[in-house]
Amino acid sequence: MKPISTVVEQMKPSGIRKFFDLASTMDDVISLGVGEPDFATPWHICQAAMQSLADGKTHYTANRGLLELREEIAKFHHEHYDQNYDPKTEIVVTVGGSEGIDISMRALLNPGDEVIVMDPNYVAYEPAVALAGGVCVPIVLTKENEFKLKPEDLQAAITDKTKAMIINFPSNPTGGVMTYDDYAKLVPIIKESGIYVVSDEIYAELSFDQKFASLAQFNEVRDQIIVINGFSKAFAMTGWRLGYILADAPVSKAITKIHQYIIMSAPVTSQYAAIEALKNGYPDVEMMREEYLHRRNLLVNRLNAMGLHTNMPHGTFYVFADIRKTGMDCETFCNELLEKEHVACIPGNAFGEHGEGFIRISYAYSLNHIKEACVRIQHFLESIHYQK
Ligand code: PMP
Repeated sequence: MKPISTVVEQMKPSGIRKFFDLASTMDDVISLGVGEPDFATPWHICQAAMQSLADGKTHYTANRGLLELREEIAKFHHEHYDQNYDPKTEIVVTVGGSEGIDISMRALLNPGDEVIVMDPNYVAYEPAVALAGGVCVPIVLTKENEFKLKPEDLQAAITDKTKAMIINFPSNPTGGVMTYDDYAKLVPIIKESGIYVVSDEIYAELSFDQKFASLAQFNEVRDQIIVINGFSKAFAMTGWRLGYILADAPVSKAITKIHQYIIMSAPVTSQYAAIEALKNGYPDVEMMREEYLHRRNLLVNRLNAMGLHTNMPHGTFYVFADIRKTGMDCETFCNELLEKEHVACIPGNAFGEHGEGFIRISYAYSLNHIKEACVRIQHFLESIHYQK
C-alpha cells in the first residue's frame, strides 16, 4: 500500500483529545477541559430553526449563505465592532470558524510561504497552515506581557517569505486581549510589510473589562485583514456548525471559490437559526457573559489564593494558570491532578511549546462545578506540599 500524505502523517494528535481520552476512562471526573459553552442554545433560536423546517426550507442556499443572514451579520458587525463589510461581496458563511481558518489559509498560501503564529495558540492553526503548504513561524507570548503581541516581536518575525499572520484575541488558551491602542502600534508594520492577518475573533462577545477591538477597524489595513467569527461561543451554538469570514472583496472572492467546491453552502437550518440569533439573541449573549464573568472572578480569586498566580483574563472562558512554582511540568501536573483528585484540565503545552508551565482551565461550567474543582485542586496542592 502507498503511504498517506506526509503532511498528515507528521501532524501531531491534539493534546486536548489525548487528555480527554484518559479522563473518559475514569469515574467522578470534574472536567474543566472543554472549550464550549455549557448553556443550551436559547430556545427562540431553536424554534426559528424548527419553523424553517416546517416551512420547507431544506435546500442548498447561495454559496456565500442566505443574503438575509449576511445582511444581519454586516449590521451586527457595524453596530457592535465598527467593522464594515458588504454583505454581497465581502461575507462568506462557513461551517464554523473552523472552516474559516482552513479555507482562508488555502486561499492565501503558496507552498513554502511563512505564516506567523502565536505560541501558545489555538490548536487548529498549525495543521491548517501545514495542509495549505505553509510554514509556521512562532512568536512567543508571555504572561509577563499579559499574552499580548508586541510590535517589536512582529517586526522581528517578518521576512520576505511572510505571507500572513494568524492572531486570536481574546485568546484561547490564554484569555489575553489586545486593545485598540495595542493594535494601533501594529498597524504601520502590517501596512509596510503587506502581509495578510487572519484575525480569529470567535470570542469577541466574551470580552470583559474592556471594549473589544479589531485590526479590521483600521482603514489603512482593512484590505489585508481577514476576520473569522461565528455563532459557537457567543450564542452557545457549537453543534450548529456555523461561522463566517469577513474580508475585502477580492480576498473574499478567492475564499468563496474554495468554499463553493468543498462545502457548497453551510447548513440551511443553522442559517435560519443564526438569523434569529442576530435579530433577537443579544440579551441572551449579555446574560451568558454576565454569568461567565462571575465564574471567572471566583475561579481566578481562588487560584491566586491557593498560590497559583494567574492573570485576570479579559476575555474568553479560559484561565491560563501559572504552575511554574510547583516545579512540575504541565503534563505531570495535569496527569497527577487527574489521577489523585479526578479533575481534568489541559496541559499548556497542548497549545505550543511555550505553554509549558501553565494549565488551561475552562470556566464554561456551573459555579458549583467550579467550586468543587477548586476544593480538589487545593487538596492536590496540599498533597504535593506546595509552598505558596
Ligand atoms: N477558534 C478558536 C480560537 C476556538 O477556540 C474555536 C473552538 N474551540 C474555533 C475557532 C472553532 O469554532 P467553531 O468551528 O465551532 O466556530
